[in-house]
Amino acid sequence: MSDTPILEPRPVLKPWIASIHAYVPGKSKAEDGRELVKLSANENPLGCSQAALDALAQGHHPNLYPDPDATRLREAIGAVHGIDPSRIICGTGSGELLHGAVQAFAGPGDEVLASRYSFSLYPLLAAKVGARIVFADDVDYAQDVDALLAAVTKHTRVVLLDNPNNPVGTWLPAGEIARLHAALPRDVLLVIDQAYAEFLAPDEDDGGFGLAAACDNVLVTRTFSKAYGLAGERVGWATGAPHLIDALNRLRGAFNVSESGQKAAVAALGDQQFVLQSRDHNARELARFCDAMAALGNHGIRPLPSKANFVLVLFDGALSAAAALQVLGEAGYAVRHLPGQGLPHGLRITIGTARQMDDIARIIGEAAEMAG
Ligand SMILES: *Cc1c(COP(=O)(O)O)cnc(C)c1O
Repeated sequence: MSDTPILEPRPVLKPWIASIHAYVPGKSKAEDGRELVKLSANENPLGCSQAALDALAQGHHPNLYPDPDATRLREAIGAVHGIDPSRIICGTGSGELLHGAVQAFAGPGDEVLASRYSFSLYPLLAAKVGARIVFADDVDYAQDVDALLAAVTKHTRVVLLDNPNNPVGTWLPAGEIARLHAALPRDVLLVIDQAYAEFLAPDEDDGGFGLAAACDNVLVTRTFSKAYGLAGERVGWATGAPHLIDALNRLRGAFNVSESGQKAAVAALGDQQFVLQSRDHNARELARFCDAMAALGNHGIRPLPSKANFVLVLFDGALSAAAALQVLGEAGYAVRHLPGQGLPHGLRITIGTARQMDDIARIIGEAAEMAG
């Protein structure tokens, strides 16, 4: 703000906190303040289950603290996924639980390992506890088991693996996850962040729940923010061995999931039809949009393969990602440009409605033609 020398003593930030920035969320407004169609945060274009809306509209007790243990919600999650509720913890989004996992097992001098292109929150989590983030090499942008294993050192304490991955959208199948886990030292915590798992086809299972049930060093996180369409309610959960759940319970906020969040999530779990509808809508529109982008290959435009509700489109031709971002913004769309993550040539575009995706494909196609 000001270059005036500081004469008064004032509280001094810890150096590892001074090195981090606040999480940068997806944009919803243009620079001039115009509201944009927000396809920058992987939110659900279909909204959420009507059952969740009905639950939210029912009798509410804002004067009372919520159930600190989210008992009914953990039971409902356990029933849907066949997991003992005592091995489930709920969080203020899965973000709180990812933070707890890093905080509990890594500190100054330790390393937290992630793939080169992964959730932008991960380096912040490591920095917050004074640990060092280490990025393993990618293979054509995707997370790779051999590269992750090659980056493990005696200082590695936690591996954060988003599967499907954000921002790329690639996915490792069960054989690869098992191979990674088998080769990791037993005292390294493997966190499998399955924020986008509901968008996978029914036969696509990375085996995370099985490992979390059987092993002492695997934690799986899930969220209601994406396929369930409840991002604003801030509800996530994790499952793993009792000693992991115990560690996260020590670190989480005392009343971390609001009453409305617990009620909406329980109701949403009871409406799996909505989740399937979201998955099918996404699969259809994702395929159509990727085809449209692949057809612009002669303009140096390439969609990376995605199993999530977004696609990372690379712009290596005359139309740059920054220029495409600009044109889309002028047309009323916010998508995600991630130069800070080493992707100045990519745009991560959330799959919206069919009409929105047609519109975006047309705008990018026209801009690519004009750019030559
Ligand atoms: C969106 C997202 C989450 C979800 O965060 P919440 O705190 O549950 O809203 C977690 N991991 C990844 C990789 C994500 O993209």
